[in-house]
Amino acid sequence: MQEFDYICIGGGSGGIASANRASRYGQKVALIEAKAIGGTCVNVGCVPKKAMWYGAQVAEAIHQYAPDYGFDVTVNNFSWETLVASREAYIKRIHGSYDRVLANNNITRVEGFAKFVDNNTVEVNGELYRGKHILIATGGYPHRDTVPGAEYGIDSDGFFALKQQPKRVVVAGAGYIAVELAGVMHSLGSETHLIVRKNAPLRSFDPMLTETLTEIIEQEGPRLHKFHVIQEIIKHDDESLTVVLTNGERIDTDCLVWAIGRRPATGNLGLENTDVKTDLKGHIIVDKYQNTDAPNVYAVGDCIGKVDLTPVAVKAGRLLSERLFNNKPDAHMDYDMIPTVVFSHPPIGTIGLTEPQAIAKYGDENIKVYESSFAAMYTAVTKNRQITKMKLICAGKEETVVGLHGIGFAMDEILQGFGVAMKMGATKADFDACVAIHPTSGEEFVTM
Ligand code: FAD
Ligand code: NDP
Repeated sequence: MQEFDYICIGGGSGGIASANRASRYGQKVALIEAKAIGGTCVNVGCVPKKAMWYGAQVAEAIHQYAPDYGFDVTVNNFSWETLVASREAYIKRIHGSYDRVLANNNITRVEGFAKFVDNNTVEVNGELYRGKHILIATGGYPHRDTVPGAEYGIDSDGFFALKQQPKRVVVAGAGYIAVELAGVMHSLGSETHLIVRKNAPLRSFDPMLTETLTEIIEQEGPRLHKFHVIQEIIKHDDESLTVVLTNGERIDTDCLVWAIGRRPATGNLGLENTDVKTDLKGHIIVDKYQNTDAPNVYAVGDCIGKVDLTPVAVKAGRLLSERLFNNKPDAHMDYDMIPTVVFSHPPIGTIGLTEPQAIAKYGDENIKVYESSFAAMYTAVTKNRQITKMKLICAGKEETVVGLHGIGFAMDEILQGFGVAMKMGATKADFDACVAIHPTSGEEFVTM
């Protein structure tokens, strides 16, 4: 039996962040990882996705914008293999950097799948590890449908394992992953279909974002199929697929990607041997301090199902270590006002309340909405003008900015600073007091 002050199960965003912070305060720490260091974000999430998105941006620059900027570009070939190789080399460098930091912090690495034996002990590859404190940061995994032939599809993990570019792709789902992967494949030249079961993708976002994204997708692609789900998938001898929708439509394709949500990786963790409780979906139940129902056992990140974003897992993990090991008894994660970006085409940036949420919270008469709509200058000097839309939702007499939403060129990079302002409780007057940076898209937020 090996003994530690702190055991982190899961070497992803939350586990690594918490382990490193705990070691900074002199704790003896073990980090247990079953697969690749870095977890979902580094290996099959944010990082490879963003690399593919940048690849798609290059394709868009060449095909849509370069001619009107005076470039006579002839593309002889697009090599998926090269893009994937560049992406994987970058990920390898991130692994190296994680390895160095963990080693410098004297964190014991355990490779294998951890299972709880009791509240304080886990077993990995037949070895027992006892922790005074144990963090569960096991993340999640992609959910698949069960319709006939569903197994012929892949999920986002499978997408990042594709060695060749599928010429034809069907993406099923309506959330971040479906929108991002369908957008990437469309921009990289695959014939792409996006299947959403309701009226639009990203339905829970502010209606302005949902509607604008839907309009742009309907104008520019990928091909959007609304109000249908997949009924059946037929596999042919040449490995190609026919995807049959509930309206009877049949789409011939080379690849089907399921992107219909994720589930918490808590099922095989041996939680039945502990006092840790989960909800019906398997998410670990925690209080605001990330405490589970078992003493000295905590959980952060996607496995708690609160806000499934890397910086959220990282912050919650670090704050937990601050509370446990740096004498900060009230340190805890604030899940309010979290900025988030969807790497769609064009990107979406959003923080705070949607308009319907603001009306429900403050009453229609107590909110004021400012909106702006224009063609992003990068596109406006070309024939392929693309709309940008922005919106500020303000509440009360002070006009505190409680929601900020944008879709358009560069929105992914614009949002972060406004997130700081909103976290500080900025009002519309504070926004207006800031001198605009011209000519940018971001200036619209301070000149509405
Ligand atoms: P993870 O990063 O999933 O880490 C959990 C780790 O635990 C895994 O490595 C797993 O192998 C390991 N593990 C599980 N069970 C055990 C066990 N019993 N024993 C040992 N090890 C175990 N977020 C963003 O903020 N921005 C983005 O752009 C973004 N893009 C994404 C794109 C995709 C395609 C996906 C799938 C996700 C994306 N996310 C993004 C979400 C982000 O990746 C997650 O929110 C984040 O990785 C969660 O961190 P975590 O520490 O909770 O879990
Ligand atoms: P999401 O939960 O975001 O979206 C899945 C959507 O798919 C559902 O909202 C639902 O939309 C639709 N859906 C569910 N079941 C079915 C079904 N059976 N058939 C058809 N459609 C279905 O999940 P994702 O997997 O896209 O992403 C998981 C999380 O990872 C995200 O919520 C986000 O937190 C994180 N992430 C963050 C990214 C970023 O920061 N850029 C990028 C990628 C992921 P509806 O009800 O409208 O049909």
